[in-house]
Amino acid sequence: MTTDCIFCKILAGTIPAKKIYEDDDVIAFNDIKPMAKVHFLIVPKLHVEGLKACDISHQNLLGKMLLLAPKLAAEQGLVGFKTLINTGREGGQEVFHIHVHVFGGGVA
Ligand code: 5GP
Ligand code: ZN
Repeated sequence: MTTDCIFCKILAGTIPAKKIYEDDDVIAFNDIKPMAKVHFLIVPKLHVEGLKACDISHQNLLGKMLLLAPKLAAEQGLVGFKTLINTGREGGQEVFHIHVHVFGGGVA
């Protein structure tokens, strides 16, 4: 938990979010500004800044996040979908707690 991190606050329940999945390691919730009809974020409970901050110790967690994408996308009614991981400010990252975007279903 990092106190000034918006996703840690969602994880702690101090900021509400439309949760679609949770287990011991990961949570998924709808993006507040959807870029598509379905747009959710897969977020680890561990606070890691981004992909550049990951190392071999995060391999299982990253794999788990990616494997959840097709499962949750199907549950949300998507036949196909896009995934996105923005990395670094120059890469479009705005929230520095790693997350996988999953979106599809056409324009929001
Ligand atoms: P990034 O640009 O870091 O890859 O994506 C951050 C995403 O988090 C953005 O798509 C943004 O809309 C979403 N987001 C930012 N703040 C909140 C929030 O408080 N709640 C939810 N559900 N999504 C948020
Ligand atoms: Zn965090």
